[in-house]
Amino acid sequence: MTTLRHCPQCNAELPSDAPDGVCPTCLVQQGFDSRAGAAGDEPGATGSASRPGFAAPPPEELSARFPQFDIVELVGQGGMGAVYKARQPTLDRFVALKILPPEVGDDPAFAERFKREARALAMLSHASIVTVHDFGEADGLYYFVMEYVDGTNLRQTIADGRLTPPEALAIVPQICDALQFAHDEGVVHRDIKPENVLIDTRGRVKITDFGLAKLLGAETDDTAIGKPFTLTGTRQVMGTAHYMAPEQMQGSSSVDHRADIYSLAARGRSTDSQIDG
Ligand code: ADP
Ligand code: MG
Repeated sequence: MTTLRHCPQCNAELPSDAPDGVCPTCLVQQGFDSRAGAAGDEPGATGSASRPGFAAPPPEELSARFPQFDIVELVGQGGMGAVYKARQPTLDRFVALKILPPEVGDDPAFAERFKREARALAMLSHASIVTVHDFGEADGLYYFVMEYVDGTNLRQTIADGRLTPPEALAIVPQICDALQFAHDEGVVHRDIKPENVLIDTRGRVKITDFGLAKLLGAETDDTAIGKPFTLTGTRQVMGTAHYMAPEQMQGSSSVDHRADIYSLAARGRSTDSQIDG
């Protein structure tokens, strides 16, 4: 027998595939409400995921921990780590070295989860998804070694005003294709935003940070419901507030591929609106 479920907020009957206990209308409303009051809610900010305390070590400091690489420069830093351009002399190639905030190691369960999730991410092989070459831990610092994308991210491209409408239109199907592939493999990105969409010098799209929001966030598996992994001591919702699906904002444990589709379609309110408004 199917039990009818009702929205606890407006009492409307819930669609059978509703991702959480609130109806779609109330979910969307909650998304707007929480955005209005979100701290650091500008494009590029990582909302509740941001950790202002995380200071990316200078390249010289990293060199000692990663003797197998020549650390060239810090490329950028976000709420979930810092990315360096590095050269791997043995293979004569550049790689992107992403280090995670050191406090992730405070959780004794993290190492196991990191191994499990990183393996799943390393298996994703698609032309529009940044390849994970390796991952590990060096002196308590968790890291990913990834394909280095020589180019810019979509945020910079938009800000530079270099994107023509046909170019912008050409980017979207590449993102859709990569997302479809990952979703078919059972991987949800959870933090689709312009900073994670890289564009190489030949105009090809490469999505980075697949699954990182899940790895660093609260919803790791069913057993984690109710005992979220936190980096700040508060309940953590990883992802970028500006693009996050309402059910993700709520910290729902049933976030699925639809959250990525929402983020892809979400418009930023300031810089984004310069091109898509
Ligand atoms: P965020 O995604 O919030 O900007 P990150 O620490 O994930 O923060 O990344 C910082 C910057 O590093 C990104 O904005 C992106 O431009 C750059 N970046 C990330 N991954 C790569 C990569 N594989 N190759 C080249 N640049 C990258
Ligand atoms: Mg990123």
